[in-house]
Amino acid sequence: MGKPGWQGISLFLTLKSKTKPNGKKPVSEEKKLYLEPEYTRVRVADFEFKQLVTLPQEIDLNEWLASNITTFFNHINLQYSTISEFCTAETCQTMAACNTQYYWYDERGKKIKCTAPQYIDFVMSSVQKLVTDEDVFPTKYGREFPSSFESLVKKICRYLFHVTAHIYSAHFKEIVALELHGHLNTLFSHFLLFIREFNLLDTKETAILDDLSEMLFSEDSREAAGATGGAQNHVKER
Ligand SMILES: [Zn+2]
Repeated sequence: MGKPGWQGISLFLTLKSKTKPNGKKPVSEEKKLYLEPEYTRVRVADFEFKQLVTLPQEIDLNEWLASNITTFFNHINLQYSTISEFCTAETCQTMAACNTQYYWYDERGKKIKCTAPQYIDFVMSSVQKLVTDEDVFPTKYGREFPSSFESLVKKICRYLFHVTAHIYSAHFKEIVALELHGHLNTLFSHFLLFIREFNLLDTKETAILDDLSEMLFSEDSREAAGATGGAQNHVKER
């Protein structure tokens, strides 16, 4: 069965209320750059994600989950690596995304105070360990998936969602400067639809980016992405 360590890690979330106890709105409603139509319109691919996430006939559900989750992990890790030099203990003292604060808990359930880069490092190394563990993500013929597989997949999705949300809320400016917003939008759209298709995350968890997903999945935005060819790096897949 799985190696000790991971299974013992428990992650809990502490969600900061968006509205202060006195009912007042937060002091500053910062403008979210990633919601600007000029950016939400940009994708690298304009195809049917719905079709892309559906479990193909003849493919085992766990195999499908395993291969997709591994791919999302690699892509989100890569996306983060492009801006990681801007995500430091100084710029991101806590792991925050929009108004939500995430905390890491160690194996004994002890809350660890950490910066965003530390948190993301915990995420990436834990997930890396998992997806390369033959007992959890078996690749050899005849090996069975563990009974805890589904809950581990959900845990991974939660971690990866936190990282993606942090990239959008804290580093979108840098992503735009690198002209990677089309990739990020495409990756996030695909990831979110996959999560929805297999109920891998509570909608409360993903709510902080509902404003963005609404825009990304809106017909207008999709048409505009197709009509304008998105960005210069737009790839048509038809
Ligand atoms: Zn950061």
